[in-house]
Amino acid sequence: MAELPDITSPREIMKLFRHYGLQPLRHLGQNFLIDANVVRKIVAAAEVGPGDSVIEVGPGAGALTVTIARSGANLVVLEIDRGLVRLLGDLLQPWPTVRILEQDVLKSDWKELITTFKHGAPIKLVSNLPYNISGPFMYNLFEEGFPFNGAVLMFQKEVAHRLVATPGDSDYGALSVISRYYTEGKILFAVSKNVFWPRPKVGSAVLKLQPRFRILNTEEEPLFWKLVQGVFQQRRKTIQNSMLRVFALPRPLLNGLLDEASIDPSSRPEELSVEQFAKLTRITYNNFNKLS
Ligand code: SAM
Repeated sequence: MAELPDITSPREIMKLFRHYGLQPLRHLGQNFLIDANVVRKIVAAAEVGPGDSVIEVGPGAGALTVTIARSGANLVVLEIDRGLVRLLGDLLQPWPTVRILEQDVLKSDWKELITTFKHGAPIKLVSNLPYNISGPFMYNLFEEGFPFNGAVLMFQKEVAHRLVATPGDSDYGALSVISRYYTEGKILFAVSKNVFWPRPKVGSAVLKLQPRFRILNTEEEPLFWKLVQGVFQQRRKTIQNSMLRVFALPRPLLNGLLDEASIDPSSRPEELSVEQFAKLTRITYNNFNKLS
């Protein structure tokens, strides 16, 4: 590739696709950014610079990748589509330090990936995420303890709102509680459907996530996940009834736990904050230990 094409120009990206015999694949959530300004804003928000360690998920045709590579960051990109991996191999030749891994990010071994960077280096995550995998992808990252210094991620608008929702919001659910447990999140800006090729059906939003202090100990965290994911399966039930289903404990014992956590047994899961879920987890954990 002699001259670097402008991959945010729809004409250029289509030309590249013809050259490599590619088509945008809907089942892989392929909607490519074609707006240089949005690309600049996302990369600026990630604050990447020389020597930083950065992982980009789903680089696609390289819109964000080239801008990140130009910043001088140590970059690893994870892309599932073999055709795009081929295209990226050529496009990114001017930056031999960028590592391209053909990989399904839902199967990534994050611990291993992180050890490929300098020991202890803070790692930033950047992505225009394939919308069809954003829920399971985020759950995976949280299960790993969100091992990043920060992340700037573009989601379908509804998912972005869910990740930062607070009690009482209509989209507040298990993902919101778990996201708020591991991170401090902020929606930075909305992104129009018109800046993608092909144009998606839904609007997008860019979110910044930063790791936050984890209230619970690592031994308590599996119980937190079980509690939160369990009770939100029946969000309209009272916390008392949904906990009964999750833990199968005698009702008086359960009421004792809720009482100790100062939670009204008739409140709904969607009314409880992450701090209340954490407190209830700790109390339940301590009582389970006493019981066993
Ligand atoms: N970053 C590019 C951009 O902004 O123009 C492309 C974004 S596109 C929304 C999502 C990208 O993620 C596509 O390149 C797609 O092939 C890739 N992708 C989809 N599922 C993936 C998976 N499970 N693992 C890794 N990459 C995936």
